[in-house]
Amino acid sequence: MSEVAAPLFHRAAVIGIGLIGSSLARAMKEYRLADSVVCCDRSVEACEAALRLGIVDAASPDLSAMLDGADLVILAIPVGGYAALADELGPLLRPGVILTDVGSVKQTALRDLAPAIPDGVHFIPGHPIAGTEHSGPEAGFAELFQGRWCILTPPPGSNDAALAKLIALWEACGSKVEVMEPAHHDQVLAITSHLPHLIAYTIVGTASDLEEHTKSEVIKFSASGFRDFTRIAASDPIMWRDVFMNNKEAVLEVLQRFTEDLTALQRAIRWGEGEKLEAHFTKTRAIRRAVIDAKQA
Ligand code: NAP
Repeated sequence: MSEVAAPLFHRAAVIGIGLIGSSLARAMKEYRLADSVVCCDRSVEACEAALRLGIVDAASPDLSAMLDGADLVILAIPVGGYAALADELGPLLRPGVILTDVGSVKQTALRDLAPAIPDGVHFIPGHPIAGTEHSGPEAGFAELFQGRWCILTPPPGSNDAALAKLIALWEACGSKVEVMEPAHHDQVLAITSHLPHLIAYTIVGTASDLEEHTKSEVIKFSASGFRDFTRIAASDPIMWRDVFMNNKEAVLEVLQRFTEDLTALQRAIRWGEGEKLEAHFTKTRAIRRAVIDAKQA
């Protein structure tokens, strides 16, 4: 969003140059937030694409080479990969380095990474509430985080200066930053993001299970609400598998409440209780207005 007076970091290393990693790399380069931006991705094609697109100064699947000299390390891979990476990552982090992530679940980020992080490394997990249904380095764009929230979940005793630098980084990318407990993050995101994705995956799956002719009708008339669900249900399968595997309890809790509320609406339809439906829809319409007013539409 804005260039800072002097780069915040010397060498920023992004691990996983997909949608979010490449968007952050682009923003860091465009707004000169680091002297150099490098990336490590296990996919050689992704590294080559990042170099071709000019969004990093160096790229390689070699983690040790990319982390050499980095004072900021950003983990931007699906959360299910954290535990396997932790043991390789830990010994490569020097004291004073800031390690953060962008994963959609925060309690397991701490659980899977913290034991491998050496003393003196400032580990502050994060999650930008911004994204699209696309994946890979080509899908990213520097403006992705503009006007969006970024949640940081510093563990108790985190270094204030490291937290301030991360806040400055996200604000320079155009985000508004909120600091939160990881468990609270996971509960909030279960209802605002994880459940809606599960519903979209269910509806689109149900439609595609219908008979062949109905399927084509569904596509033909998808100009209405269904179209929005197909967009959400096109989101990355690996990322979303990992979200549900890692935020199991909070998702199951909101799913239970959602199922009860759905049953209440089902009952209102069955018994012809139009007033109940109207009252409910009026309440939800007001929530849409509040989202628009908060500029999160
Ligand atoms: P993505 O576009 O699929 O990119 C992830 C990249 O990381 C891929 O190139 C992948 O390579 C690579 N990778 C996976 N494991 C790796 C490892 N161990 N070492 C190095 N590279 C590895 O993913 P994304 O959508 O940017 O999501 C990244 C993170 O951001 C996830 O934790 C997600 O929860 C979070 N997030 C996503 C969104 C969203 O809307 N997409 C929004 C907010 C936060 P392969 O292709 O070989 O697997």
